[in-house]
Amino acid sequence: MPNIKLSQPNSLDEALGLLAKEGDQIKIIAGGTALVIMLKNRLISPSALLSLGRLDDLRYVRHEAGTGLRIGGLVTIRDAENSPVVRDKHPALALTFGKVGNVRVRNAATVGGNLSEADYASDPPCLLVALRARARARSARGEREIPLTELFKGFYETTLASDEILTELIVPDLALGSRSAYIKYVSRSSEDRPCVGMAAVLTLAPGGTCTDLRLVAGAVSDIPQEFADAGAMARGKHLTDSLITEIAESFASVVDPLSDLRGSAWYRKQIIRVMARRAMQQASADR
Ligand SMILES: Cc1cc2nc3c(=O)[nH]c(=O)nc-3n(C[C@H](O)[C@H](O)[C@H](O)COP(=O)(O)OP(=O)(O)OC[C@H]3O[C@@H](n4cnc5c(N)ncnc54)[C@H](O)[C@@H]3O)c2cc1C
Repeated sequence: MPNIKLSQPNSLDEALGLLAKEGDQIKIIAGGTALVIMLKNRLISPSALLSLGRLDDLRYVRHEAGTGLRIGGLVTIRDAENSPVVRDKHPALALTFGKVGNVRVRNAATVGGNLSEADYASDPPCLLVALRARARARSARGEREIPLTELFKGFYETTLASDEILTELIVPDLALGSRSAYIKYVSRSSEDRPCVGMAAVLTLAPGGTCTDLRLVAGAVSDIPQEFADAGAMARGKHLTDSLITEIAESFASVVDPLSDLRGSAWYRKQIIRVMARRAMQQASADR
C-alpha cells in the first residue's frame, strides 16, 4: 500500500474541521474492515485517512422514551449485538447484528461503518429500513437526520456528503402490537454475506387482524428493496398461510434481482418467494 497520512483526532469537532479542510482528499476510517480491503485492492487511493478511533463519545447504546434506541456510530457490531438495551427493545435487530460475518469482523466493524459502506450485500440495512430507522450525520456545517429509506443511493453510495460523519443510528420503538424478523440466506458458506436477506415488520390489532406490514429484501439490488404493496395487501386481514403465500408470490413477481457470484437473478427470485413467506411467518409467531 502507498504511504498514506493518518490523522487521529481526539474530538468530533476536530475531526469535522479536518474533513471540512481536506475535502475529498481525506477518507474516514472506523473499524477498517471494509476500507482496508478497498485500499489493498486499489479501489480507492486517498492521500490521507481520518481515524474515528479516538472518538469515544460515539460509543454508546441507550434508549430514550419518545425517541427510541440510540446507537453511536462507533459502536462495534459485536457490542450492538450483545447490548442488553438492543436485545430488550429490538431483539430482532440484536440477532441481525449477530448475523454479520464472523466474530472477528463484528469485533472491529462499526455500526456507522456498515451503513456508510452501503454494500448491497449487507444485513443490518434491510431490517433497519423496515424499522424506519434514521441516521444522524454531523459536519462542520451542522447536523441532520437522514431516514434510512433515503440514506442508500446505489452500489456503495450514500447520500452522506464527503465532509459528514455518521454519528448516530436512531431506531424508533415498535408500535404496540408490532413485531419484527430478519432472516438471511447464504449460498456459499455460513459466514458469507447474504445471497438474500429478508425483513418483515408487522402490526396486529388486538383481534389479530393486520394493521401494517413492511417487507424489505436485501442483497437483491443496489439498495434494500421494499415491497410497496405489502401493507395494502395485508391491512384489515388475518395473516393466514394462504395470504402470506399470496404476498410472498406478489413480492417475488415484482422484484428484478441482480445476478452475482452468490446466485443468478432467477435463483434469487425463487429464494425471495420462500424468504418473504418465512420472514412473515417468523414475525407473526413472535409474541
Ligand atoms: C470477512 C468479512 C465478512 C463480512 N460479512 C458481512 C455480512 O455477512 N453482513 C454484513 O452486513 N456485512 C458484512 N461485512 C461488512 C462489514 O459489516 C463492514 O465491513 C463493516 O461494518 C464496516 O465497518 P467499519 O467500521 O469496519 O468501516 P470501515 O471499513 O472503517 O469504513 C467503511 C466505509 O464507511 C466509511 N465510514 C466508516 N465509518 C463512517 C462514519 N461513522 N461516517 C461516515 N463514513 C464512515 C469509510 O470511509 C468507508 O468508506 C463483512 C466484512 C468482512 C471483511
